[in-house]
Amino acid sequence: MRRKLAAGNWKMNGTSESLAELDALRSAHPAPQVDVLICPPATLVTSAVVSVADHDIAIGGQDCHAKPNGAHTGDISASMLKDAGASYVILGHSERRTDHVEIDGLVRQKTLAAHASDLIAVVCVGETLEEREAANTLDIIAGQLAGSLPDVLNAQNTVIAYEPVWAIGTGKVPTTDQIGEVHDHIRAKLEQRYGEGVGRSIRILYGGSVKGSNADEIFAVSNVDGALVGGASLKASDFSPIITALEKA
Ligand code: PEP
Repeated sequence: MRRKLAAGNWKMNGTSESLAELDALRSAHPAPQVDVLICPPATLVTSAVVSVADHDIAIGGQDCHAKPNGAHTGDISASMLKDAGASYVILGHSERRTDHVEIDGLVRQKTLAAHASDLIAVVCVGETLEEREAANTLDIIAGQLAGSLPDVLNAQNTVIAYEPVWAIGTGKVPTTDQIGEVHDHIRAKLEQRYGEGVGRSIRILYGGSVKGSNADEIFAVSNVDGALVGGASLKASDFSPIITALEKA
């Protein structure tokens, strides 16, 4: 009942030459059986939207400001992303939380801004290695969900991404039991807060060193509805096997 989602986060990578990767993805997946999303840097959103015209690949932003407009040099609002043709926006990524000191309350404001502009918010949560080693993972995730999500949302405008900070870009991946434990916990928290119907329908992605070689086992875990992929989304040749694995899961 939950449509799977393969999402790529290009981070601060890519110039107009990288749009060739979107062409390659289109050719490799003319009619994907799962949702496919690419979040390029803001400079490429408009041209990426043009590149995927008439195809099911969606384009998203990697962040937005909490306010709709104003004196915020260097920032981009949700309505600007929407105007550029984006349909999703990643919010609360651990790199934003660390590099820009984004706290849960701000992520919540940004999520509201995304919803107000009719963007699907991909809200990221995840524990550090220290928090995991201190056996605090589930409490940390519950706290991030409670603080980062607004009181009203639905499965059409919100996706959760569980991204253990220590697994991002490191090649380290939690065991499938560890992933399953956190995804089941997130599902339970969503059902508790938003009711069973909404809580059961919200997609929960896993993110952190997902590759073609580990995608099958990760996608077999309960309550894993897809992936948020960094490094392995930059090249169509790396991302394509992940899409294929998700289609087969
Ligand atoms: C990410 O940054 O969202 C991510 C999961 O990165 P990577 O796949 O490179 O670990």
